[in-house]
Amino acid sequence: MPIDLHTHSTTSDGTDTPAELLRAAAHAGVDTVALTDHDTTAGWREAAAALPAGMRLVPGVEWSCVSSDGRGGYCSVHLLGYLFDPESPALVAEQARLRAERRKRLRLMAMRMAEDHLPIDTEGLLAGLPEDSSAGRPHLARALIAAGVVATVDQAFAEYLNTGGRYYLARVDTPVERAIEMITAAGGVTVMAHAFARTRGSVVSPRVIAELADRGLTGLEVDHPDHDPAARVELRMLAAEHGLLVTGASDYHGTNKSVKIGQERTADDVFAELVARSTGTPVITGESAT
Ligand code: AMP
Ligand code: FE
Ligand code: FE
Ligand code: ZN
Repeated sequence: MPIDLHTHSTTSDGTDTPAELLRAAAHAGVDTVALTDHDTTAGWREAAAALPAGMRLVPGVEWSCVSSDGRGGYCSVHLLGYLFDPESPALVAEQARLRAERRKRLRLMAMRMAEDHLPIDTEGLLAGLPEDSSAGRPHLARALIAAGVVATVDQAFAEYLNTGGRYYLARVDTPVERAIEMITAAGGVTVMAHAFARTRGSVVSPRVIAELADRGLTGLEVDHPDHDPAARVELRMLAAEHGLLVTGASDYHGTNKSVKIGQERTADDVFAELVARSTGTPVITGESAT
């Protein structure tokens, strides 16, 4: 029963619509998929409506958070939330704030690029995003490709979009402890995404993981394409030490990344445990057409 618990659709920075994403999953033989768009649950409805018979949809989110790095500074943390009540008022308000923050930041980055004579149509870019979707740097990467400035998303990041680069602007993300509290209060479970993906920038120290486990974090995403074998060993040991569940997932983004859906997976018993610990919203099962 292949289970992939981290994917992105056009509701954030993936290139497949929720319906296309589920078709890609079915084609790859994945029967359980979590839709985890950045800072939005707006794709859940389309995904549920398009769910092929026999497949299971795990409603989720990947929440943009900020954390102490455990060395006196701060770093970005992505928190996966699953099976929470999407109408929880605190959560709805904070995610709406984050999406507004994302649009404002993308507009400012695009304006800086336009000032440097990069051919970016800022307003057209923002107008083309679906309602309640999350704007991100991959959208700017696509605009640079469309304008013929770069050939690939990777090149766009390397030359224009990487953290700390000329056009990069930070966002005001949610403190990770707050996001854990909000998802837990809404009946969901939480898994820290790609915690040791060191190529993306600074990452949390083991002590921070211990502290977040004390505050209710449910699991660690260990098997992720951005984790090398050493990072996986380290994270598996930390998970065992602090009683955290171990998940695996592809972080599929359609053609914005080269990973394939189902490339990394979560074990059946771990998935059952995540479901058993959540009360906010059920796993959705595709009914056979009658
Ligand atoms: P943002 O959310 O706007 O800060 O952009 C971060 C997103 O960009 C991540 O969620 C990834 O999907 C994507 N990303 C980051 N680095 C790269 C890269 N080198 N190539 C392709 N996509 C990337
Ligand atoms: Fe992304
Ligand atoms: Fe992420
Ligand atoms: Zn992701």
